[in-house]
Amino acid sequence: MSEQLAKELQLEEENAAFPEVVAAAEGPFITGENIDTSSDLMLAQMLQMEFDREYDAQLRREEKKINGDSKVSISFENYRKVHPYDSDSSEDEVDWQDTRHDPYRADKPTTTPRRGFIGKGKDITTKHDEVVCGRKNTARMENFAPEFQVGDGIGMDLKLSNQVFNALKQHAYSEERRSARLHEKKEHSTAEKAVDPKTRLLLYKMVNSGMLETITGCISTGKESVVFHAYGGSATEDKVIPPECAIKVFKTTLNEFKNRDKYIKDDYRFKDRFSKLNPRKIIRMWAEKEMHNLTRMQNAGIPCPQVVILKKHVLVMSFIGQDQVPAPKLKDVTLSSEDMKKAYYQILNMMQQLYRECNLVHADLSEYNMLWHDGKVWLIDVSQSVEPTHPHGLEFLFRDCRNVSQFFQKGGVAEALNERELFNAVSGLNITADNEVDFQAEIEALEKMNEDHVQNHGKKLSTFSSDGDPPIYDE
Ligand code: ADP
Ligand code: MG
Repeated sequence: MSEQLAKELQLEEENAAFPEVVAAAEGPFITGENIDTSSDLMLAQMLQMEFDREYDAQLRREEKKINGDSKVSISFENYRKVHPYDSDSSEDEVDWQDTRHDPYRADKPTTTPRRGFIGKGKDITTKHDEVVCGRKNTARMENFAPEFQVGDGIGMDLKLSNQVFNALKQHAYSEERRSARLHEKKEHSTAEKAVDPKTRLLLYKMVNSGMLETITGCISTGKESVVFHAYGGSATEDKVIPPECAIKVFKTTLNEFKNRDKYIKDDYRFKDRFSKLNPRKIIRMWAEKEMHNLTRMQNAGIPCPQVVILKKHVLVMSFIGQDQVPAPKLKDVTLSSEDMKKAYYQILNMMQQLYRECNLVHADLSEYNMLWHDGKVWLIDVSQSVEPTHPHGLEFLFRDCRNVSQFFQKGGVAEALNERELFNAVSGLNITADNEVDFQAEIEALEKMNEDHVQNHGKKLSTFSSDGDPPIYDE
């Protein structure tokens, strides 16, 4: 087969696998005008979801009827239509918990030794003994795929005949393959910029309600979010919708978020809720956090996107840029030395405002999260921002300062403070260490003092004490 033909075939296959992506790339993603065609599909999907839910509810009722008060229960879990990992209804069932240790797991029964029998004479027990074999089969069920729920057969001293065990094993294998197939499909759809059906539905509703006019396409796809551009729709009673909007969809694939929980877990604003939440809800909290932080910044007059609406894990905000072209990141724009200096002083002021007026540390501040638009710098991406008294707040601030200092020093701004000076200028603290190691040690000591205060008084310091307000820098 020629290389050309092979390529064509592969392309065809890919197109068949991701038709939505192609549609998004060719024209508007979801528009007011194409509702007629796309809505049939959407409505059908919505209806199907409804049917599936009803079916599952009926299944649950049947399950209850059959099981009654019996200690041994039969599960119809594997016959459910809306599978647990793509169902909202599972949210309250699966809690955020450590599953490495299962205190309820019974000890495994001892197995017969290798030579195949124990005991002597009349009391001899071979590996073919029905009871031993049955128990062994029950224990072997533990090796089925984790999503295959086998119940507590060991605790019940359940004995499975070889025939039953083999049938179960066969079923477990085919179920595992089926679920892997489903999962793979879903992963691909997020990887390919498209959003999962539920998010699509949410977006569709926003267009359908007239809040958005058209969702034109994807601006950016990162590890944790996908950002779309949209034209704003008509204003509602209490809201003016900006002419152009950015829609940030926090990814509902959970893996990327696991290592970020330190930002939110120790944030007292979310602390009480964190322990009770499952991963899906934590992702919604990221979106919520970004909304609250943006609102604080807006109130302080810091240039940043204005929040339009938050729906679950989807945040709609004003678009920084024009005619579908997003403003460039600071890292991608070439500024005159005059503009560079202007940008530097603006950022210095914004960091101070953020710290003092918004009581926030950005915590991911760098040339990647600052946009250059209308002759000034705009701050974005604040879902991970924390208050300065967060257990790692000052460390995050120091990291931000290092990024900013390095960027502007490399960019030729002679006036740019070094990271330690910048840290003191933003925080109003007066850490005198003249090298990085000692400086960081002092930062950590301050954070520890704050934590001790929490231990002793049950609350955080209102701020870190300083010699007064930080000096305001101006050009
Ligand atoms: P992530 O957490 O994925 O980095 P960001 O909030 O930084 O998410 O958004 C990713 C990219 O999307 C940004 O670098 C920027 O180019 C674009 N973007 C995000 N929000 C806006 C907005 N309000 N206006 C214009 N572009 C935006
Ligand atoms: Mg970013």
